[in-house]
Amino acid sequence: MTAGVTLDGSAAAADSVRSSGPGRPATKQHPDAELRALLRDIDHRRIEATVRKLVSFGTRHTLSVQDDPNRGIGAARDWIFAEMSRYAEASGGRMTVELQSYIQQPSTRIPTPTRITNVVATLRGSVTPERIYVVSGHYDSRVTDVMNATADAPGANDDASGVAVAMELARVMAGRRPKATIVFAAVAGEEQNLYGARYMATQYKAASADVQAMFTNDIVGSSTADDGVRDPRTVRLFAEGVPTAETPAEANVRRSVGGENDSPARQLARFVTNVADNDATDMNVRIIYRRDRYLRGGDHIGFLEQGYPAARFTEPNENFDHQHQDIRVEGGKQFGDLPEFCDFPYIARVARVNAATLWSLAQGPGTPKNVRVRTDQLTNNTDLVWARGAEPDLAGYEVVWRETTSPDWTHVIPVGDVTAVSIDLSKDNVFFGVRAVDKAGHRSPVSFPLPA
Ligand SMILES: [Zn+2]
Repeated sequence: MTAGVTLDGSAAAADSVRSSGPGRPATKQHPDAELRALLRDIDHRRIEATVRKLVSFGTRHTLSVQDDPNRGIGAARDWIFAEMSRYAEASGGRMTVELQSYIQQPSTRIPTPTRITNVVATLRGSVTPERIYVVSGHYDSRVTDVMNATADAPGANDDASGVAVAMELARVMAGRRPKATIVFAAVAGEEQNLYGARYMATQYKAASADVQAMFTNDIVGSSTADDGVRDPRTVRLFAEGVPTAETPAEANVRRSVGGENDSPARQLARFVTNVADNDATDMNVRIIYRRDRYLRGGDHIGFLEQGYPAARFTEPNENFDHQHQDIRVEGGKQFGDLPEFCDFPYIARVARVNAATLWSLAQGPGTPKNVRVRTDQLTNNTDLVWARGAEPDLAGYEVVWRETTSPDWTHVIPVGDVTAVSIDLSKDNVFFGVRAVDKAGHRSPVSFPLPA
């Protein structure tokens, strides 16, 4: 027996193009006045100043000098820390900034023991601080030879742009009161082997931290491709299908139920288009069903390895003449990752996509936990159960569903403040999910049920 409401399958969706079945057509969550005001505070001039300041340290290579006040990764680290600490003054003590560091022993692309330091600003949530959302960029840089720690490596796009996004979000959010905790990180060691983000993720895991989403912004600086094509209103979001941290037992379940397009990372990506692809960000979010680009990785992988939902924002068309290149002119062509090839209003729009996402996550309820579809009997309906969230402004839950061939949820069934529901639609024929809704209408990401 399943307690809770029962919904009638005869209440078909209004749109005849959609599959027939219970519920209303899915719609986007539009930004409220509070979020729109926040998005307006994001300033491309501040982002430009941050990128140019980071470039001014000459190189930010992970193996570069750490105790020179003007050059090298140590100078960049100290400037980021001081700047974030200045933003934190507006928070009344709710934002704390720390240098999170460890010694990386000799390993891939690390020849001698090397201190790796992340600058981490944590804005503690006012209602459910145990829920954590992370946004990052990496402040280390490189040239053609990944072991060259002395040549000028401006890293304007890769990845001062991503650091500038995380820092601008810290600046505009420091004086505000998100319900959940938001973490703004500038990490190091990315170009050597994702060391900083990996360390940060393992620290969260060791503390059993409830990180419900992580986004890395890496190469978000330009909308112009090497052939001159411009796409200034699009950002790509790379989101894996089969989870990096999946166990063999979990793989068996996935093969059995067809969950390869319903990982936590994919639900997160759908959430991003739901809340951040709109007129307030002036951006299209292009989800890519892939963990990262060919031959490339990013800091989200460190979080995926620990089982945390994570994804990567990247510009729409990369120009490889301006990534991982020695600064030089060859055949009349300028190579190198220089600020003159950045589009600062574009980076500001990417920051707005991040801000809409992080703020909507933090102001909305957490992702439902322990969502299960009951499979103890053969039936042609669907019995879903889940655990109730602890948010004081929780209004209840919505069941979402779609055809198995559809990329995103198409139908929404409001079911009220219950933790179990029976739907008159076969679990064999469609995919189901569950999300939480608060009294103001903010939604959580969707949780995909496991069989129980
Ligand atoms: Zn990068």
